Order: sequence, then structure tokens, then C-alpha cells
Amino acid sequence: MIPDMVAPTAPARIVGIIGDPIAHSLSPRMHGAAFAASGVDWRYIPFRVTAADLEDAVRGIRALGFAGFNVTVPHKQTIMPFLDGFEDQARDIGAVNAVRLEGRNLVGYNTDAPGLSDALTRDGGVRLAGARCLILGAGGAGRSAAYALAGAGVRSLVILNRTPSRAEDVAARVAAAHPACAVSAGPLEPDSARRATEDSDVIIQATSATLSAAMGGGGGRAAWLRALEPAMRPGKTILDMVYTPRRTELLVAAGDAGATAVDGLSMLIYQGARSFELWTGLSAPIDVMRRALDAAAQPGERVS
Ligand code: NAP
Repeated sequence: MIPDMVAPTAPARIVGIIGDPIAHSLSPRMHGAAFAASGVDWRYIPFRVTAADLEDAVRGIRALGFAGFNVTVPHKQTIMPFLDGFEDQARDIGAVNAVRLEGRNLVGYNTDAPGLSDALTRDGGVRLAGARCLILGAGGAGRSAAYALAGAGVRSLVILNRTPSRAEDVAARVAAAHPACAVSAGPLEPDSARRATEDSDVIIQATSATLSAAMGGGGGRAAWLRALEPAMRPGKTILDMVYTPRRTELLVAAGDAGATAVDGLSMLIYQGARSFELWTGLSAPIDVMRRALDAAAQPGERVS
């Protein structure tokens, strides 16, 4: 006889997040709070999955019938060959951060892109149509940002990256998909970053450099980051995707200069809300998700 304590009950629906590292992720707290507030028996579990184990992990998730899962660094692009299908935006962007089980198929979505747009428009009060935008970084997050902004009808897009060829590749793809948007690319250097900041209404920090700086790595803040500060003014909006700490030095400097500063947790909430709705079909309790993250990450606090 199985004791009551361990007797099987109706199984909870399982979702989660895979990445490496994963211990720093705030998504389990955010989604746990959202499920509790919505009265559903769902669990969100973080799994550390190395690159070598990625294919096996995806097979296991399919076999176990998880309702879906999030994907984070470093698997957003490399997971694509192991999935069964994609929604159009994820295929165009070439990066997946949310997956849903549809029948026996794992289908990849990109909720980072609409999450960024939501953060800018809903928390930053930005009108994207006609805006002049700058993206610093051309990794998975920078690519998602470029498609999101071009798709929202921005007038121009400058993409600067430490490795310029990556920025050029993203720019060429986005320009082909959105011919009405003037897209250009270049190297991420102090002069180019300052000039592009001066000429932009919306600046997206999508490199991991501010994360390294916040964590004490890389010998302090890069010269190109410091070069942005004199170009910040009222009327400009800066979003730093890095949220460790919540108010990065870049955001503090932007706020001090009178610009609108939007933190990376805002994007995390809105991409998470889109994932929640994709899996459950319910409306995401955004205020609950925001409160869960507020409790986990005080301004200036390191959250990892
Ligand atoms: P990724 O694909 O690994 O790309 C990293 C990017 O950062 C590349 O453009 C890389 O340039 C650049 N970079 C790294 N170190 C640098 C340095 N010291 N100086 C200048 N550039 C540097 O990562 P990702 O997925 O794009 O993510 C980027 C950051 O955004 C991460 O910190 C991630 O946690 C954050 N993020 C936040 C959210 C959110 O919801 N808030 C969502 C997505 C991502 P190279 O091409 O030259 O290597």
C-alpha cells in the first residue's frame, strides 16, 4: 500500500527552462507566482543542460510530455535543428526562446522579440513607429531586437557589434525582410557608439558586456559603454537587457541625464507573459509576475 504522502495524484503540467548556467534565472519565481495566482497546477523547473546534452534533453522533454519550456543562453540558436517546427517569427529571427508541445511536436517560438517591444511601449512609453533606433550587440538578443523593432515600423536601425561581421549579417537579413526600414551596421567602438547614440531616440543594450562589468569581470566598464553617457538626453529611451544588477551603471547614467531608463526585468516579464499565454491559453497576471521579480531583485542588488 502506498502511503498517502506519496500516492500519485492527477499529474501537474510541467514546463521549465533549459540553459547553462541556469541557477541565476528568475523565470522559475516569476512563473511559479503566475501559476499560483491563476489557480492552475503547473510547475516551472530550471534544468541545467550542457551543449553536449541538448539533443538528448529535447528528446526527453518530448517523451515526458512537458507542456513546453523556455530556452536561454547558450541554446537559443543551436536548439533549432532538434525541434519539429517553428512559428514564422522564430524562423525569420533564427532564435527560439519558447517551445510548446503541439500533439507530439515541439514547436519553437520567439517571445523575446515581442517582449522587447512590449517593454519599450508599455513601460517606456515609447512610440516605435518612425523612431530612430540603435542596437548594441548582434547575438541572439540583438537579432531578436532588430526584427522586433523593424517589424514595429521604426524609421532606422543601426546595429553595432564587437565582431562587425555579425552585425552586418543581421543588418542584411533584417533589411531584406523589412525594406522600408533603413538598416546599417558597424563596429562597436567608443566613437561609433557615441555618434549613434546622439542620432537615436531608442538605444538597446543587447551585449553581455554590462553583465560582465556588473559581475566584476572584464576589467571594468568598456570604453564604448562610458562613451554613451555624454550622448544621453531627455527624450531618449535606453533599455539594458542585462538585469544583474537591476539598475546597471548604464541605466543609472541614463536616468541621471534625464533619459528614460527601462530595465531588463521589464523585457523578462513581457517575454515571460507571452510564454505563459502560449502554454496555458490564459491571460498572464503581469502585475503578479512583476511583484515576484520586484521581490527577488531590489534595485542595485545582484540577483545571481
Ligand atoms: P549571445 O548570443 O551570447 O551574444 C552576446 C553578445 O554580447 C554578442 O553581440 C557579443 O559580441 C557581445 N559581447 C559579449 N561580451 C562583450 C564585451 N565585453 N564587449 C562588447 N560586446 C560583448 O547572448 P544573447 O542571447 O544575445 O544575450 C545578450 C545579453 O542579453 C545576455 O546578458 C542575456 O542575459 C541578456 N538577455 C536578456 C533578456 C531579458 O529578457 N532581459 C532576454 C535575452 C537576453 P560578439 O558577437 O563580438 O561576441
